[in-house]
Amino acid sequence: MPEGPSIVILRELVEELDLEGQQVIALSGNTKIEKDRMLHQKVTDFKSWGKHFLICFEDFSLRVHFMMFGSYRINERKDAPARLSLSFENAELNFYSCSLKYIEGDINASYDWSADVMAEQWNPAEALKKIKIKPQALICDILLDQEIFSGVGNIIKNEVLYRVGIHPSSIAASIPLVKLKLLINQARQYSFDFLNWKKAYVLKKHWLVNTRKFCPFEHPLVKSYLGKTKRRTFFCPVCQVLYD
Ligand SMILES: [Zn+2]
Repeated sequence: MPEGPSIVILRELVEELDLEGQQVIALSGNTKIEKDRMLHQKVTDFKSWGKHFLICFEDFSLRVHFMMFGSYRINERKDAPARLSLSFENAELNFYSCSLKYIEGDINASYDWSADVMAEQWNPAEALKKIKIKPQALICDILLDQEIFSGVGNIIKNEVLYRVGIHPSSIAASIPLVKLKLLINQARQYSFDFLNWKKAYVLKKHWLVNTRKFCPFEHPLVKSYLGKTKRRTFFCPVCQVLYD
């Protein structure tokens, strides 16, 4: 499932095509949304917010969410039916197995850009405030909360918790403030490391715990489905402190 950095890569690739100001000249796909609404409309911007890719038009935007199995192709096609295919004069964007939704009006009114860990507007102090509103929540759930850490997915969650030495089942309120601040800081830092490693095709080899059997110190890792979200979690019971 694409996490925030993968959507940033998509946005950067699309930005290179210089499609802003260009019209959609043809479209197809098996989506159930009223796709013809985009025909002959000019794209005003492409944005990303966490795991959402946004194609902005004058009065509305299209939100593309890749869910678990979504994918895309730029100027080429997969051997599978597209959910949506958008043609411009010199480019074609194809989206597969994704969820599409229109967002009406000014996109800035619908999105809190300061919650996106990879955005320029990212606000760590705001994230800390939001965590304090959920003192009893488990930190593994907090990290996946898109209202707090938009863009953080399951891999980033596993790796960041190992990096900062916090056990995934720790209770938010029990984590020392200095550790919590470190976690917030590293959620962003790790996302950019993820981005750079992914661009260089070396992401997996940098995983310290995700899908691994031993941590870098040779301690056996635990794999379990933790938190309200019940997402697959890899952690080291030696290196990661449980604050409960
Ligand atoms: Zn360890």
